[in-house]
Amino acid sequence: MISYQKAKTIINKHLFFLNKENVDLINSPGRILGEDVVAPFPSPIFNNSAMDGFAVRATDTKHATEEEPIELKIIDISSAGSPSEIIIGKGECIQCMTGAKIPKGADAIIMVEDTSGFSNNGSVKVKNSASCGAHIRKRGEEISEGDILIKKGTRITANELGTCATFGYGAIIVSKKPKVSIFGTGDELVEPGKKLGKGQIYNSNLYVFTDLVEKAGALIQMKEVIKDDKESLKSFLSQALEESDIIISSGGVSMGRYDYVRDVFIELGVKEHFWKVAQKPGKPMFFGTKEHKLIFGLPGNPVSSYIGFMEWIWPVIQSLMGENIEKPLYGKLEESFPREKTKYRFLFGQAGYKNGEIICRPTSRLGSHMLTSSLGANCILGSDSGDGPLKPGDLIKINLLPWKNL
Ligand code: AMP
Ligand code: MG
Repeated sequence: MISYQKAKTIINKHLFFLNKENVDLINSPGRILGEDVVAPFPSPIFNNSAMDGFAVRATDTKHATEEEPIELKIIDISSAGSPSEIIIGKGECIQCMTGAKIPKGADAIIMVEDTSGFSNNGSVKVKNSASCGAHIRKRGEEISEGDILIKKGTRITANELGTCATFGYGAIIVSKKPKVSIFGTGDELVEPGKKLGKGQIYNSNLYVFTDLVEKAGALIQMKEVIKDDKESLKSFLSQALEESDIIISSGGVSMGRYDYVRDVFIELGVKEHFWKVAQKPGKPMFFGTKEHKLIFGLPGNPVSSYIGFMEWIWPVIQSLMGENIEKPLYGKLEESFPREKTKYRFLFGQAGYKNGEIICRPTSRLGSHMLTSSLGANCILGSDSGDGPLKPGDLIKINLLPWKNL
C-alpha cells in the first residue's frame, strides 16, 4: 500500500498532452483552449459613436445653449455599417448613429437629445456644447492589436465564446478530447428500469461515470457492464486498450475471489504502477499504463467510485487537455471530521460562506456503499491521516465539485 501523495506523484509522471484540433467556434464551449487567443486588430477597430446624434467639430458648438442654440448644416448620414465618406467643414455636421464610424473632420458627438432632432431639413439646432472627444469610442481604447485575450488552458464558456466572436475567430484551436472507456463489473448488476432478481443490485456507477466523463470534457469511447468472468473482461479490455486514452474500471479490483480485473490487465500487458492506496474509501485502487494509455481500477462501492473519479481521474483528464487547474480551497469545519490514523480520508461535504469565511461539514452518511451521501453535497472534503478526528474550527481541504457553487 502506498501513500496518497506517492500515488499522485506516480500518476503525474505518466501524464502527457493530447494533440490539438481546430473546432468551429460554435462547437467550442466546454473545450480547453490549446493556444493563446490574440487580438488580430484593436478594439474598437475604428473610432465610432457611442450615441445616436450628430458628428460635429467641438469648436463649432462652443457657445451653444438651450436659450441660444447654434445652427449647423446637415451634410450627410453615417450609420452603423454605412459610414459617411464626406469630410465635415466649419458649421457643418453629419447625423451619426450608435456604432457608426466618426466622419473625417468631426471630433465630438452631440446627443440627439441635445438638438432639435434628426430631420431632412438640411439643418439642426444644437442646444449644448460638446467637448473634444465627447461620446466617441476611440479605436484601441479597450484592446490593442496583439494583446493576449484568452490564455491557453482556459475552458471555453460564453465569456470566452463572445470575445472570440468579437475578434472574428470562426474556429479556434483546442485540445483533443481524451477517449475514455468505462466499464462496470459484477454478476449482480442490473440496469435501472429492469426488475431486480435475488441478490442483485442496480448498476449506478456507470451512470455516474458517464456524466463525469462528459462533464470533464472527455469522450466516452466504450461503456459496458461485464460479468465476473475472465474471458468477457479480456475481450472488452483488449479492445478498450486499442481505442482509448484512459480506461476506468469500477469494481473487480478488490480481494474477492471474482475480482479478476487486475489479473486481466496484467495478462494484457498493462504495467502495474500501484495497487492499494492508503485512502478511505477506495483503498484497493489500481493504476497501470500500457504505452501512453492510463488505466485506473476503482473499487466498485459507489462512493469509492464517485470520489475516486473526482479525486484521481478528473484532474488527469484536465492535465491531458492542458486545462489550468485551480488551487484547492480550504474551509473551516463546523462539525468534527472522522480523520483516519493511517489513511487519507474523503467524504462528500457541504461548503459555503458564513461571515466572510468558508465553512464546511461532511454529509451525514459515512459508508462507502451509501451513495445518497452525495445528495446535497457540493464538494468532497479530504484530510490527511492523523490522530483523532478533526474538530470544529479546524481547516480542511475542499474539492468543490466543478458544476456546483459555494
Ligand atoms: P467490488 O469492488 O467489485 O468488490 O464491488 C464492491 C461493491 O460495490 C459491491 O457491493 C458491488 O456490488 C458494488 N458495485 C460494484 N459495481 C457497481 C456498480 N456498477 N454500481 C453499483 N454498485 C456496484
Ligand atoms: Mg464485484
